[in-house]
Amino acid sequence: MKNLLGGKGANLAEMSSTGVPVPPGFTITTEVCTEYNKLGREKIVEVLKDDVEKEIAKIEEQTNTKFGSNETPCLLSVRSGARVSMPGMMDTVLNLGLNDEAVEGLAKKTNNDRFAWDSYRRFIQMYGDVVMGLEPESKEDPDPFEEIIENLKEKKGVEKDVDLTTDDLKNMVQEFKNIIKKRLGKEFPQDPWEQLWGAVMAVFDSWNTPRAKYYRQMHKIPEEWGTAVNVMAMVFGNMGEDSGTGVAFTRDAATGENVFNGEFLMNAQGEDVVAGIRTPQQITKAGSQNWAKLQGVSEEERKKTFPSLEEMFPDIYKELYDIQESLEKHYKDMQDLEFTIQEGKLWLLQTRNGKRTGAAMVKIAMDMLDEGILDEKTAVLRNEPNKLDELLHPVFNPEGLKEATTIAKGLPASPGAATGQLVFFADDAEEWGNQGKDVILARTETSPEDLKGMNLARGILTSRGGMTSHAAVVARGMGKCCIAGAGSVQINYRKKTMTVDGKTYQEGDWVSLNGSTGEMYEGKVPTHDPELSGNFARVMELSEKYAKMGVRTNADTPYDSKTAREFGAIGIGLCRTEHMFFEGDRITAMREMILSTKKEDRVKALHKLLPMQREDFEGIFEAMQDLPVTVRLLDPPLHEFVPHEEKNQKQMADELGVSLEEVQKTVDSLHEMNPMLGHRGCRLGNTYPEITEMQVRAIIEAALNLKKKGIKAYPEIMVPLTGIFEEMKMQENIARATAEKVFEEYNDRIDYLVGTMIEVPRATVIADKIAESAEFFSFGTNDLTQMTFGYSRDDAGKFLPVYMNNGILKDDPFQILDQEGVGQLVEMGTKRGRQTRKDLKVGICGEHGGEPRSVEFCHGVGMNYVSCSPYRVPIARLAAAQAAIKEKQNQ
Ligand code: ADP
Ligand code: MG
Ligand code: MG
Repeated sequence: MKNLLGGKGANLAEMSSTGVPVPPGFTITTEVCTEYNKLGREKIVEVLKDDVEKEIAKIEEQTNTKFGSNETPCLLSVRSGARVSMPGMMDTVLNLGLNDEAVEGLAKKTNNDRFAWDSYRRFIQMYGDVVMGLEPESKEDPDPFEEIIENLKEKKGVEKDVDLTTDDLKNMVQEFKNIIKKRLGKEFPQDPWEQLWGAVMAVFDSWNTPRAKYYRQMHKIPEEWGTAVNVMAMVFGNMGEDSGTGVAFTRDAATGENVFNGEFLMNAQGEDVVAGIRTPQQITKAGSQNWAKLQGVSEEERKKTFPSLEEMFPDIYKELYDIQESLEKHYKDMQDLEFTIQEGKLWLLQTRNGKRTGAAMVKIAMDMLDEGILDEKTAVLRNEPNKLDELLHPVFNPEGLKEATTIAKGLPASPGAATGQLVFFADDAEEWGNQGKDVILARTETSPEDLKGMNLARGILTSRGGMTSHAAVVARGMGKCCIAGAGSVQINYRKKTMTVDGKTYQEGDWVSLNGSTGEMYEGKVPTHDPELSGNFARVMELSEKYAKMGVRTNADTPYDSKTAREFGAIGIGLCRTEHMFFEGDRITAMREMILSTKKEDRVKALHKLLPMQREDFEGIFEAMQDLPVTVRLLDPPLHEFVPHEEKNQKQMADELGVSLEEVQKTVDSLHEMNPMLGHRGCRLGNTYPEITEMQVRAIIEAALNLKKKGIKAYPEIMVPLTGIFEEMKMQENIARATAEKVFEEYNDRIDYLVGTMIEVPRATVIADKIAESAEFFSFGTNDLTQMTFGYSRDDAGKFLPVYMNNGILKDDPFQILDQEGVGQLVEMGTKRGRQTRKDLKVGICGEHGGEPRSVEFCHGVGMNYVSCSPYRVPIARLAAAQAAIKEKQNQ
């Protein structure tokens, strides 16, 4: 149902059918959006017209109103709603159907002038913005409608919009209409049907705005899903002091704690709560007291100025409480609700599975398991693998915090520790972030346009808005640290400064945010690694229980190996040896080898490298004791090891006691037109067998040395870039001969394997033959992608973004395994390899090994393991478990 009606529409229909009070309405399906993109506006209106008229007639009947009537106008809300909620798509239009005459009718009918004019000015404002597209002239300028409101408030000397009189609102309406006319050159439409179709089409159009596209890219939401349009009868939270609007969560979206919480505003409508226009009140008494403590508001003041809904309207509170309880039971997940109170009557306007932080995700899943709401498998599936990442990152040192100077305090809207340089505009955050700078985005409040900058910032601070403000909700969804509503902070956009209690901070100043306490500090506060116990550990245990594939890690150092082991890696899937050649003396010996023209000289140089390599392997084998370690033989082209600037070449010449010309000659001779397709991989080991000999010797000697100390090592020697059987066989022969020689010298032996990376497309085709020599396969999907697409990984940045924007490519194939092409080769290679060697061990290394969708694919292909960088290990473990569970469910 969600696919067709969108999340919002489906849940509204479901709520209404289970007896929750929801205003009457209907949904135009996502399919229409797809058709709209093909047919265009006029055709679509023609197709929809009859049905829409019928549906509106039903609403009229239930609400005793008439759409287009000036006496009893039927007012509607028009809301977008895709399959999954896309926060920040603020394209809702409320109070649609009002015009210069109907506003009078509404005033008369409700006997409430102020309400009618407030509704009308809101309608023009939303419609002018969302449908007609009136925007500020530049980014420093305020929203044109907001500016009019601010000016009016100033002129009248009032602080809040609720303090404006009916006459003020009438003036506002006139000014709104004027600015639309002036800036856009058209009149605000008076015909309700024109208004309606305009709004419906605007929802469809909003599917294709850059910010919607960006959000979809970020969350891998397919373009073709489209959005539904929900048309509903209005209920009014702005009818006076017994009306209001609010947002609530069935559990804490930041911590996951099982407490009902939320915020509301009396005499307000729509997004007022979220937009941070006034300070919202808390729904529960406990929440309200908590809030007051954080804000330094006394209990007396709280009771007077910010009482909770629970205290103000206990009956409505009770009804809301019961509804939230039953909705959570029904959906078996934490719900995010929107409600409106119209003259003391409660209406629900939305429910959806609430966005949450990684920590909340894990806690809620485990709590619901304990509460018997979810079974183990469902609880595992409830965790989004990529969101685990948030739990693995540093938190502030308690010692560091003690010494830190607090700048300001706001609401702990999204936990985490963030340190960065202040910026005040989202596009600056984007620019600085793209330059690799750590930034903190500080704004009065955020809006959907800021999405990209928010994503690139380390943390977000707002001076207005509550726990359900745009900044807070979006930050939690992104797993980004956020402090909301730090009221003492004054931001000056023109000067690009932030002032707190008389002290001014400039753009570029360093600050630290603690999203778990709501505190902002001066400068950089030191951090330390997080605690990985509790619920996180439980999710990992369950993953262990259900996963079929193991997860290994890509690690070149004992430190990385240890980290990965702590995260649950069951071996190293890729230990690159080339990194080891760059440090200190090693690079000199390496260069000496490269400069050698005779084999004896090369052997001599390699001899110097041997003890260093051996030591490296001993360190890694020891860190991974009892677990397999796949060591890849030298892979990159040799030119990567020589200097290309004359200054460094001179230095190299001096170090090696040769002439500069000789060095330059060698460097020139190493130059290749396509180094990625050049003299590299096993082509090196087959032209210079002594390199392979030295490396294998280092590996076997390291393992034997550890054996003497009682430490078990299981080396797996991996030949890179095999494309031809004979290539592999020759490397295998060298490796085995060398190993036997070392065994003889040590008079001892160990078990080891010789296998290969499969990364040249040809190797996947002749995998059956290669498996005659290779004891294991590891798909090197970075190179395999590069060679299958014919895209140079280092040059693809020029066209991949364009391809993705144009929809030529859905995803970057270097990030998400291309299942359609590259994946087929992986599948074929695995099958053919196992035709020859039934128990051939197959894995994957490279970026894809830690990417959840690719991991799922690897599971489907029947791989034994995936290998990824240490910090992706927990993610891959969870993804592997989910793949196994989903497969069972689909059988
Ligand atoms: P979003 O997807 O951004 O949450 P919504 O369509 O849910 O957008 O609506 C924006 C705001 O308008 C919400 O606060 C919602 O509760 C309110 N709203 C939507 N429809 C109605 C309605 N029929 N009557 C009163 N308020 C409404
Ligand atoms: Mg909503
Ligand atoms: Mg490779």
